[in-house]
Amino acid sequence: MTLILALDFGGTKLAAAMVNVGSREWLRYERRLSPAKADASTDLEIMRSLIYSLLQGTKPAAIGVSFGGPVDASTGTVRLSHHVPGWENIPLKHLLEDEFGVPVGVDNDANVAALGEHRFGAGEGYDSLFYITVSTGVGGGWILNGKPWRGAGGMAGEIGHIVVDPAGPVCLCGKRGCVERLASGPYMAQNAREILENVDASAASRRVPPSRLLCERLRQREAFRREGRQGGEILRGLVGDDLKLLTGQLVSEAAAAGDDLAKEVLHKAAWALGVGIGNVANLMNPQRFVLGGGVTKAGDDFWQVLQRVALEIALPEVDFEIVPAVLGDDAPLWGAVALTSI
Ligand SMILES: [Zn+2]
Repeated sequence: MTLILALDFGGTKLAAAMVNVGSREWLRYERRLSPAKADASTDLEIMRSLIYSLLQGTKPAAIGVSFGGPVDASTGTVRLSHHVPGWENIPLKHLLEDEFGVPVGVDNDANVAALGEHRFGAGEGYDSLFYITVSTGVGGGWILNGKPWRGAGGMAGEIGHIVVDPAGPVCLCGKRGCVERLASGPYMAQNAREILENVDASAASRRVPPSRLLCERLRQREAFRREGRQGGEILRGLVGDDLKLLTGQLVSEAAAAGDDLAKEVLHKAAWALGVGIGNVANLMNPQRFVLGGGVTKAGDDFWQVLQRVALEIALPEVDFEIVPAVLGDDAPLWGAVALTSI
């Protein structure tokens, strides 16, 4: 019996699982939330306790690790975490190898999830695929010729920061109109909130000279009224008028319930992803795009816009499929298993 240990250091959760080589079912599995004021040492401590509880005295043949942040995969050193302080330049591979005495592979979560879907999920049998996760952020990972492609500096796959609208809103990376700025869950919520807040502000005071953006939004709102469409009422209802509570998921729910303002925000997200995917298809010509993450569960409408726009952007000779991921939250863990055998 050859055991593989898989670890997932996410931004807010930690998970560990164990599997027999060749099996597709976890032997044991544990998941825990990171504490509110986590740092690298508390995360490492929690992970160590998960590991010892899983191993129950046995020894794995290898350990694979998915880390939610930039990693130097060649040395297994974490560069930093965008969510948890204290991870700067932590030699995670060496720490684990020293403690457990077995080979360890470490890579960032998008690359690892791509590998997981390639080996065990929606990318099985496809040698060239691009995995995209759309949730609190938008990330991507390549499998080319059956192997992960990380780029010269480990930065390949950053589809989230491909600019699709140079005149669009400012992204956290400082550029305008990135895919992530339009399509991530938190940014979708922010976009919906800003439209609703600007409508409120303009109703309260007509003296403020409206910005170009505001003009555009007011026109949009008026257009909704004239056409007798739902413009945010369902969305407002879902949060009891407290716009701070808006989330990407609520935007999706309101859109599904017929709220045209929410639909507009969701369609813009799908459009941004479609433009990104169409351009990536032209450039790299992968067989499949595998899409995971909460936002991709937004429904048929979202997928239709995404598929249509991607096909419009790509050249007619460039063939590809866009399919949903199948491993869900376990993609990084299954990828970590695959990481131990490459
Ligand atoms: Zn950006």
